[in-house]
Order: sequence, then structure tokens, then C-alpha cells
Amino acid sequence: MTYDLENIFAKILRGEIPCDKVYEDDFALAFHDINPQAPVHILVIPKGAYVSMADFTASAPADLIAGFFRAVGQVAREAGLEDAGYRILANAGADAHQEVPHLHIHIFGGKRLGPMLTR
Ligand code: AMP
Repeated sequence: MTYDLENIFAKILRGEIPCDKVYEDDFALAFHDINPQAPVHILVIPKGAYVSMADFTASAPADLIAGFFRAVGQVAREAGLEDAGYRILANAGADAHQEVPHLHIHIFGGKRLGPMLTR
């Protein structure tokens, strides 16, 4: 899938639209989801043009891959989720209902999240 430069997270990364930022470093940006599905619902996105996890892990440089995943862990830690627990999730493609075609990891926490998938 070709990367769409006009997707909403690309615009957030370029500073063209605002976000409720919780973390930023050279590799990643994290912000609160606009439509939270849990008391804590944060999105972490890599700084680069990657549609999905498959695209990212196949094409991104190693320092970006490492930095991005370190950022995910740090964001969860800084959100105070380590003791009680949390869930990370990345949707890819139509079956997973990916809405925004820029790789993002959801971090959910702040309550008992229940079983992994609703049937
Ligand atoms: P997905 O279905 O995995 O692609 O999830 C996309 C997520 O992005 C959804 O949870 C949306 O609520 C969230 N979202 C869409 N636009 C924004 C925005 N401008 N700021 C923050 N979150 C957003």
C-alpha cells in the first residue's frame, strides 16, 4: 500500500493539525486518542512514512525501529500503567479495521480491559 502523505497522522507529525501530546522524541510521537476506548488510550506513531507494522519492520532503519518500540514502553511506563497492566494493539488493513494509514500502536489501560477480542 502506498503511503498517503495527507493522512491525519502525517498532518499531526508535520504540525499541521494539533494533538494532545504526551511524549515525543527523535523516533516517535505519542498523543491521546481523540475518541478514547478506555480511561487511558494513547496512540504512539513512528516519525516516518510507514503504513503498517509490516511496512515499518520491513523498511525502517534499525535505529528507528528500536527507538519507536522503546518509546512505546516508555509511554506506558510514564502513564503509570506498569503495575496494573495495559494492552497494546496495532490494526493493519481492512479486516482489522485500520482507519488511519500511518502505523500506530494503541495503548489501553486504566481499567480491567476484559477479554482480548469481542466476538
Ligand atoms: P485505527 O482504527 O487503529 O486506525 O485507529 C485510529 C484511531 O485514531 C482511532 O482510535 C481514532 O479515534 C484515532 N484518531 C483519529 N483522528 C485522531 C486525531 N486527530 N487525534 C487523535 N486520535 C485520532
